[in-house]
Amino acid sequence: MTILDGKALSEQLIDSVKEKAEKLKPKLAVILVGENPASMAYVRNKKKACERSGIEYVEYNFSTSITQEEILKKIDELNKDETVNGLIVQLPLPDHIYVPDVIRAVTPEKDVDGFHAYNIGKMFLSPEFEDLPPATPLGIVKLLDHYNIPIQGKEVVVVGHSNIVGKPISMMMLNRNATVTTCHIYTKDLSAHTKRADILIVAVGKENLITADMVKDGVIVVDVGMNRNSKGKLCGDVDYPNVSKKASYITPVPGGVGPMTVAALILNTIRATERQRNI
Ligand code: NAD
Repeated sequence: MTILDGKALSEQLIDSVKEKAEKLKPKLAVILVGENPASMAYVRNKKKACERSGIEYVEYNFSTSITQEEILKKIDELNKDETVNGLIVQLPLPDHIYVPDVIRAVTPEKDVDGFHAYNIGKMFLSPEFEDLPPATPLGIVKLLDHYNIPIQGKEVVVVGHSNIVGKPISMMMLNRNATVTTCHIYTKDLSAHTKRADILIVAVGKENLITADMVKDGVIVVDVGMNRNSKGKLCGDVDYPNVSKKASYITPVPGGVGPMTVAALILNTIRATERQRNI
């Protein structure tokens, strides 16, 4: 069994853009609303990665009482600010903010999270992921590619159908000529599907959702989930100690997909800057 070491690859990828960053001097702006500990941790990691790669990082903090109009106004200001190349609005947002309008408001050219319909559409149409593909799915593909894991012709089962992970990674796998099954909360017999998987990608947010009896020997497992167990420890959606005994490759949590998402954000920020300058 080989551990898919997202942390090590993420550091390599972040280091690989240093030279470009020095020339381009890109700037990433992050909007953070409230003090959700998980969001604060994610944002801290993004800041660290920017510092490591030489990308300028600027953070705008707002209280949870911010209105929809105020957040849209800030996004509009950063869209127009020519010194800003990438723009992230950290999710989740408070319930009174309508997230689809926030995602729509970020100009596609600076949408380094790859959430905007324009970037999703480009990802759909292009197997080579031009423009700015969704960061977590991009990180997953980079991780599989790095370990030379073939995708074409494989049975890929994705569990979770969110707009930011499940749906786009399903499409990316289809673009790479896998046979893709996407499961979700209404899937009738989850393990009937997961047992067929050559590559199993799980993005749900439920500790121990995937147990050893639900996978076949030699399966390749990508665990996107980020949960806290009863002891407060970070864990994924997969019963790692037991599933790893059957897997040929598996991502750890932490240290798998999380750091790869950050690396993908850095790559997207460089790409956004180059495209804005017609490079
Ligand atoms: P979400 O919370 O928007 O949706 C959850 C998905 O899981 C839905 O598609 C739902 O249908 C499905 N689901 C729920 N219960 C299920 C069940 N019992 N069986 C099968 N499917 C079920 O999803 P999200 O935003 O993609 O996040 C999923 C997880 O991934 C969370 O733990 C999140 O924290 C984590 N995440 C991690 C990263 C990273 O960089 N590592 C990035 C994004 C999300």
